[in-house]
Amino acid sequence: MGYDPLSEDQREVRELVRTLARERIAPRAAEIDETGEFPWDLVEVLREHEIFGLPFEERHGGTGTGTLMLLVAIEEVSKACATTGLVLAVQELGALALKLAGTDEQRERYLPRLASGEWLAAYALTEPGSGSDSAAMRTTARREDDAYVLDGGKRFITNAGVAGVYTVFAKTDPDAGHSGISCFVVEADTPGLEIGRIEPKMGIKGSTTGEVFFNDCRAPAGNLIGEEGEGFKVAMRVLDRSRPGIGAQALGIAQGATDYALEYAKSRETMGKPIVEHELVAAKLADMETKCEAARGLLYRFGLMADEGVDGPELTRASAMAKLYCSDVAMEVTTEAVQILGGYGYMKEYPVERMMRDAKITQIYEGTNEIQRLVIAREMVRANRTSLAPVG
Ligand SMILES: Cc1cc2nc3c(=O)[nH]c(=O)nc-3n(C[C@H](O)[C@H](O)[C@H](O)COP(=O)(O)OP(=O)(O)OC[C@H]3O[C@@H](n4cnc5c(N)ncnc54)[C@H](O)[C@@H]3O)c2cc1C
Repeated sequence: MGYDPLSEDQREVRELVRTLARERIAPRAAEIDETGEFPWDLVEVLREHEIFGLPFEERHGGTGTGTLMLLVAIEEVSKACATTGLVLAVQELGALALKLAGTDEQRERYLPRLASGEWLAAYALTEPGSGSDSAAMRTTARREDDAYVLDGGKRFITNAGVAGVYTVFAKTDPDAGHSGISCFVVEADTPGLEIGRIEPKMGIKGSTTGEVFFNDCRAPAGNLIGEEGEGFKVAMRVLDRSRPGIGAQALGIAQGATDYALEYAKSRETMGKPIVEHELVAAKLADMETKCEAARGLLYRFGLMADEGVDGPELTRASAMAKLYCSDVAMEVTTEAVQILGGYGYMKEYPVERMMRDAKITQIYEGTNEIQRLVIAREMVRANRTSLAPVG
């Protein structure tokens, strides 16, 4: 066993999740992909073993084990099934606005339900005309007596139709750009919240991705998270902390594909020997393993930083790098895994075909990788670096 940065307690949790992934989750992965059905049975497995509680504080019904532990759990689950790994990642995505900017009352109402997994969470930012450009959103919220009335529609929302609670971003001042956006917590059964089309898609097929409409939807005024106009800041602070969850999903997919390709390469023979003994195949496996390990380094570093309370530009940069690198690695590594299996890699009978399709989304959602590169470059330019060889 190689170097392991986790503490004894963290290793125990990882072992539990690894066992669940191997014994309960992996046997369901191909079927979930085939049917596209949301895996409620696996949600139940995660509930039973208190896995939803990992990123929640004990006072809110969680295990108080922090961000790194959550990332490790998402990675382990995603090695077996990326759809189920996403369930864990989106629980954190949907809970973070409450954790970061919610009132005590809001936290007490929602966080214990999310920590137990009784309710699933969703995060509703994207709209048909606003993905990377969130300020272009058109959903509005206007104050009327003791309520905010929401009108508009969100698109591509993970957990649409299965979430019990939605973190929703809407414009309280439609003319004010970023500073006109506010954040709300909206319960799924609020009259006027309606679920539209659930999208058929390339991968993570068991996860619902759908439209959420607000038609004269009255959320109590007390459901505003933070102050009016602070929504964009909240959205970005949430994504800084949630994005590495997608990195963890990506890394799990990549490591799962590497492990599968290795076993296959040991047993498949051509020209009189296992293909792992052909140097070109061995080199692919070595590169795949090295990329996974490098991605894990960035990801766990982010987890440690978050658990130590690092904030601001340093956290933003580490978050963007972890998400960017893990997801690019996932795409590269799964493509190579398919190659190592040859024709069999292209067949549904083998899991690497699914893993390659699942990997693609990790380069797109929670901020595309182009946007991550912009963020990293912006922080590089902003940082006051001294160079040994000044330019000019
Ligand atoms: C399966 C799935 C699940 C999702 N889940 C959620 C969810 O739960 N909640 C939610 O709010 N959203 C969710 N999304 C939305 C997702 O975050 C967006 O699709 C993503 O941020 C990109 O936005 P867009 O699709 O509008 O693409 P666009 O913003 O239109 O981008 C199109 C292309 O242009 C590039 N681009 C855009 N602007 C720039 C720029 N300034 N510089 C360089 N390149 C640029 C992009 O990188 C991309 O390649 C989900 C999407 C999918 C597919």
